[in-house]
Amino acid sequence: MTPEEREILFHAAEWATHSKRTIMSKLREVAVTEENYLIIARELDRVHSERLRARSLHVDATLTLLDWIKTLDYFEWRCAYCQEKPFQIMSHYIPLPCGGTTPTNCVPACYSCMKRKEKRNNARVLSYLSQA
Ligand SMILES: [Zn+2]
Repeated sequence: MTPEEREILFHAAEWATHSKRTIMSKLREVAVTEENYLIIARELDRVHSERLRARSLHVDATLTLLDWIKTLDYFEWRCAYCQEKPFQIMSHYIPLPCGGTTPTNCVPACYSCMKRKEKRNNARVLSYLSQA
């Protein structure tokens, strides 16, 4: 990802986070390229559905698209646990029914780390979440 693309993604995420209604045609414009638009639309969907899951369990649902893009950027769009594979899913560090979908509980992960329950005691993840 080039610095320009990174900046556009942040700008689009900020726009989508602060607009009352996210109009997809406007989002496409803000995202500049089709590739950025697809990334932002996919992550917007992911954040929405994870917040809905949290709400249905009556736990905190405060993660914004901008928070999530910042987290992805921090971990360079890779799994936060192994820091090698590209990320595939949003991991709730503390299980969702207890921790909610919040900036201090969500990190990117790959399927194999999730399967191996690789997530405990990862110093880098813990230090990131404690500052988020
Ligand atoms: Zn992994």
